[in-house]
Amino acid sequence: MLPLPTFSVLSPRSVADAVGMLTDHPEARLIAGGTDLLPSMKYGLFSPPALIRLGGVAALQDITTTEEGGLRIGSGATLRAVGRDPRVQRLYPALAAATRTVATSTIQAMGTLGGNLMLDTRCAWYNQSSFWRGALGGCLKCHSGPEGAICHVAPKGKGCYAAHSADTAPGLLLYGAEVELVSSRGARQVAVSALYGEDGRDWIRRAPDELLTAVILPPPPPGAVVHRKLRARASIDYPLLLTAAAFDPEGGPRVVVSAVGPRPILLSGLAEAFRDGGVEAVAEAGYKQVSPLSTHV
Ligand code: SF4
Repeated sequence: MLPLPTFSVLSPRSVADAVGMLTDHPEARLIAGGTDLLPSMKYGLFSPPALIRLGGVAALQDITTTEEGGLRIGSGATLRAVGRDPRVQRLYPALAAATRTVATSTIQAMGTLGGNLMLDTRCAWYNQSSFWRGALGGCLKCHSGPEGAICHVAPKGKGCYAAHSADTAPGLLLYGAEVELVSSRGARQVAVSALYGEDGRDWIRRAPDELLTAVILPPPPPGAVVHRKLRARASIDYPLLLTAAAFDPEGGPRVVVSAVGPRPILLSGLAEAFRDGGVEAVAEAGYKQVSPLSTHV
């Protein structure tokens, strides 16, 4: 069994408390469900001196209807609570479906929507014990110790291609969701489509002192949105491929593909491809835009 490193725990009771602690302790990490953070700490991927535990901030768990007819979902709402909410099931069924494909029911009961959106990018060469990584000399994404010389997926490249693996992100992107980020400087909203970066080491466009407090969904678009996940086993696994697809009666098909690189990708030109060559042409167009690399086991 891999031991956890030593750390202290800070327990805010309000958003203001949490933001203040984050400002005062820049080396600390936020922890909600901890379902990915704690295993990563056991692997020695990072070892923060303190964790700011968000479970005691009740306001982060609220799910409320907005004046516009959408939903505001607190970042601390568990995946189970989101997936079982009748408003989510009725208005945003692809989000409800995505919460149910995350790992196991136990992890869905502990993991939160905010934690899922903040999930670190993953790679078969990175998400390993320090002993395993050390045998290869680590890679560009490994920050600790004498690691960081090469990418094993693309040895001639300078970037990191670790895969974005948050089940809920593709559907939220198609629904036009935004996240609220709060810091001592105030609050701002960022579209999920603009939240993620191009490099697996710097995958989220969030300042270190910002707390993701909520996901804000506009009223649902016309037409259905569906969520699909491909994984090696029917439970537990992180995705090999994530897709969310929507058909807008006026704008045509929209498809987001994820788990094949550092950010979800909204495919373009699908209506033309379908018109010219049917489903196979759509698949070909998508593959060209995604250019997947072997970051999975
Ligand atoms: Fe490391 Fe390369 Fe994998 Fe990134 S893609 S985690 S740099 S091996």
